[in-house]
Amino acid sequence: ETVINRIAAGEIINRPSNALKELIENSLDAGATSITVTVKDGGIKLLQIQDNGHGIRTEDLPLVCERFTTSKLKIYEDLSTIQTYGFRGEALASISHVSHLSITTKQADSECAYKAHYSDGKLAPAKPGGNSDPEPCAGNNGTIIAAEDLFYNIPSRKNALKNTRDEYNRIYEVASRYAIHNASVAFTCRKLGATKPDLCTQQNSSAINNIGQVFGAKIAASLVEISYECKDLDASFSGYVSSASHEMHKSVFLLFINHRLVDHTPIKRAVESLYSSVLPKASRPFVYLDLRIKPENVDVNVHPTKREVRFLNEDSIVGAIVDCIHKKLTSTNN
Ligand code: ADP
Ligand code: MG
Repeated sequence: ETVINRIAAGEIINRPSNALKELIENSLDAGATSITVTVKDGGIKLLQIQDNGHGIRTEDLPLVCERFTTSKLKIYEDLSTIQTYGFRGEALASISHVSHLSITTKQADSECAYKAHYSDGKLAPAKPGGNSDPEPCAGNNGTIIAAEDLFYNIPSRKNALKNTRDEYNRIYEVASRYAIHNASVAFTCRKLGATKPDLCTQQNSSAINNIGQVFGAKIAASLVEISYECKDLDASFSGYVSSASHEMHKSVFLLFINHRLVDHTPIKRAVESLYSSVLPKASRPFVYLDLRIKPENVDVNVHPTKREVRFLNEDSIVGAIVDCIHKKLTSTNN
């Protein structure tokens, strides 16, 4: 049974960056205003996230890594909406099956923090033969989650992740994109031991300011704001897109649907072809899109590791996005 769980977990959490995506979303769900990511060897040796959110109640610590355990599902009717965010209650469980996981957490009204270790969904001793109970310790309000030796028990997956620089780049990409989309939250991302972080955004910043931090002031200055509400389609979007030719080696898409970082090939294709016809010199677009769709209209029947999503009225919504960008480009470039 453990082997089956481990294989299933390895399919949900297939590389450090997608574990990080889940951990960042948990920190944001916990109301964090500051999130710090620390990485060793591309997240394979260590992937740690510290937040200043509301923390986890001590009595919940034995449960948080159990499969389908979530504190976010309050009433049954929530299910249809909640499911659209993916596999609820599976992230920590899955990570605990494929790494050495520890959680240190302190709620504001607690006198001290507690540190717990997990293995295969359950509390585990810090050292073989030891006690599994969470241990009181010093700590700040909030939560530190550390996953060590990712895929130590799935050699085939570990072997597939040999390039730690690649994995770190993916981690940086996830952290910087969430930083742009959640500009009220301070994000830091650093390699363990590095004096200077690779990403360091301030609290109460703005999306455009953080785009400048991550992609450079030149790119930020070339962007124009878009915003549109498709009332008949229960959808709306806003964001920033490139408006002039600039030197980009590849197109950049930061697409959030209902605050989740996703891929959507039809949007990407349609926008790319718009740019190559309207702005041939800028045929590598930069697009940050914050798309909101009625949760029931988003398809949840996609494989959990895939970032690709589907939604209802796709053609019309993609059409509205292209129209909106087209209008903006033709009004700013004449
Ligand atoms: P889900 O997010 O779907 O509820 P997870 O497996 O990601 O499932 O997390 C399980 C539970 O652990 C959450 O419901 C939440 O109660 C708790 N939790 C996880 N991370 C944090 C965090 N950073 N701060 C506070 N609580 C957390
Ligand atoms: Mg979660």
